[in-house]
Amino acid sequence: MIDQIRHKEPKITLLGAGPGDPDLLTLKGVKALQAADVVLYDALTNETLLEHAPADSIKVYVGKRSGEHSYAQDTINKLMIDYALNYGHVVRLKGGDPFVFGRGYEELDYAASYSIPVSVIPGISSSIGVPGLQQIPVTHRGLSESFWVITGTTTSGAVSNDIYQAATSNATVVVLMGLNKLAQIVEIFKAAGKENLPAAVVQNGSTTDEKLVIGQVLSIESLVGQEQIKAPALLIFGEVVSLHPSFKKLVKQYAALA
Ligand code: SAH
Repeated sequence: MIDQIRHKEPKITLLGAGPGDPDLLTLKGVKALQAADVVLYDALTNETLLEHAPADSIKVYVGKRSGEHSYAQDTINKLMIDYALNYGHVVRLKGGDPFVFGRGYEELDYAASYSIPVSVIPGISSSIGVPGLQQIPVTHRGLSESFWVITGTTTSGAVSNDIYQAATSNATVVVLMGLNKLAQIVEIFKAAGKENLPAAVVQNGSTTDEKLVIGQVLSIESLVGQEQIKAPALLIFGEVVSLHPSFKKLVKQYAALA
């Protein structure tokens, strides 16, 4: 049995799991899981997706447990190679899309250095899918001609410089990993004269734990506090947020107070 396993050709599939709802996996993704010998999966992937993989496949969690450190990228890279060499087809299941702040290319590069073939199956990134599920379009004729997806937490720990530039633009600005930098990000938008710009924060988009708060740059921080929004969450800044039905209600309320 072991010999038989060892003779399988090593290969790796980098698979985007989508934003959380297990039905938001692509058909190609389902097929890859069905053909997996090993699945290495992250914290932001829904564990019910593992049901697509054969019962006797190996499933390894490589994400962050609460209160513990996440696996070092280096460790994940090595595990991926070890499993591929020993068992054959490794599906590396990653939240959202593998290449949107997913470190997917590092894994691809590492596998290439061992000459292990890698294929990529894109996933629905939370950056577009989560606003979309709320019926907030990232672009809209007349309101937004582009969108930026920026990390709130760079390797150095500082807020990305791109946020300063984005705040001065008319683009829709989606910030991932930015919840605990919200105060600083709000200040950046205020400094750019955008106090009244519509803003939204979505926690656990596409899942049963989804929460949404909608306001403006001025109010968004206190709304996040009131509703006790937690990670994973993304921030959306831009006129497109005003298209959400609850923003329209908000505007009416403000108009009534004025
Ligand atoms: N590759 C992923 C992003 C990884 S970075 C993608 O394409 O979606 C992780 C960050 O993405 C989280 O900190 C959060 O900001 C955001 N995120 C991922 N899933 C989310 C979800 N379901 N709802 C809200 N934000 C989410």
